[in-house]
Amino acid sequence: TEIVDIQKIRADFPVLDQEINGKKLVYFDNAATTQKPIAVINALKHYYEFDNANIHRGIHTLAERATRDFEATREAVRKFLGAASTEEIIFTSGTTNGINLVASTYGRKFIKEGDEIIISGLEHHSNIVPWQMLCEEKGINLKVIPVNDRGELDMEVYDQLLSEKVKLVSVNHVSNALGTINPVKEIIAKAHAVGAVVMIDGAQATSHLDIDVQDLDADFYAFSAHKLYGPTGVGALYGKKALLEAMPPYMGGGEMIKEVTFEKTTYNELPYKFEAGTPNIADVVALKAALEYMDSIGRDKIAAHEDMLLQYATEQLLQIEGLRMIGEAKNKVSVASFVIEGIHPQDIGVLLDNLGVAVRTGHHCTQPLMKRFNILGTTRASFAVYNTIEEVDRLIAGLHRVKKMLA
Ligand code: PMP
Repeated sequence: TEIVDIQKIRADFPVLDQEINGKKLVYFDNAATTQKPIAVINALKHYYEFDNANIHRGIHTLAERATRDFEATREAVRKFLGAASTEEIIFTSGTTNGINLVASTYGRKFIKEGDEIIISGLEHHSNIVPWQMLCEEKGINLKVIPVNDRGELDMEVYDQLLSEKVKLVSVNHVSNALGTINPVKEIIAKAHAVGAVVMIDGAQATSHLDIDVQDLDADFYAFSAHKLYGPTGVGALYGKKALLEAMPPYMGGGEMIKEVTFEKTTYNELPYKFEAGTPNIADVVALKAALEYMDSIGRDKIAAHEDMLLQYATEQLLQIEGLRMIGEAKNKVSVASFVIEGIHPQDIGVLLDNLGVAVRTGHHCTQPLMKRFNILGTTRASFAVYNTIEEVDRLIAGLHRVKKMLA
């Protein structure tokens, strides 16, 4: 029995209906970016065809419509994240932008020389480099929660790393390279106990898990629309109101000001204080369509379908001789990351593409994690709501072909 109406869902994604190298496309690079349903594509088209205008200042009808739809997405994101107020939802260009905003404003103002920041060995480069830049600038020490052989965080070491010196902890909710779901609620509670604030990189979590920032008690939570069936170039940062109010602005410019004189400028209220310049209005508007699309299927059903695919794929993959899964966490989402003895991941990727199967190969922007496992990279198949068992079979058959050719 089907968990979701898979044929109906596939029909919502025009991009899937094409051949690559003479074979029907199998798209398994969903952790990099998901495909977009027609509802999202239509939202973009509709915006530009009927409503395009700059927001917040205009008195004319199009400006009012554009502003209304832009702010309607803010309310949809608030609800999606379980935030208390739309003042706590800042539009960004994506997760990377959200993390850099927090590092540059909260970090610069509130973290001082000799303090400590904790990240983890599972982080994407975008949750490593901004903190390194801050640490270098301010003489802050960066500590790293290590990763065990199953690809889970070592929580005992985390306990040992925590002290009054720690001012901020930043970890991902879900690992993009391995799919590990991190115990962020526990991580946050323990950090709060020593007085540290916590930033969660939710890039990989929002398409698979229910998010409730108030239940998690997260101080900051960032995500990207393009990972959850929405457009590229837009995302949101959640921040607790009291923290956002205490933070200086990120970029200066239009929109983020209350009054400008050459002597002194005062800043706008939340969330506009952090939204300088004309934002990515069309993509923000279309993000709402993506959230509604997921709701129309049911987020629990999406997760259950993906879990089913992951379980099936894992069983099949483990039957391939010489294949080793990287990341076997007890709690993980739909990412199968693996190496095959004697075959370079890139060769696997090229040969699978010849067979119409799109996977990601390489370090997945997690070079320290690859080093931890003593590998250069993995082959990663990551699943989304539109993927099928038959497609997993195509991957497995492809890998058998690859082995025959190269092993
Ligand atoms: N963190 C994680 C865990 C990710 O998977 C990604 C995207 N690969 C990012 C951060 C960065 O997201 P973006 O490129 O959309 O800013």
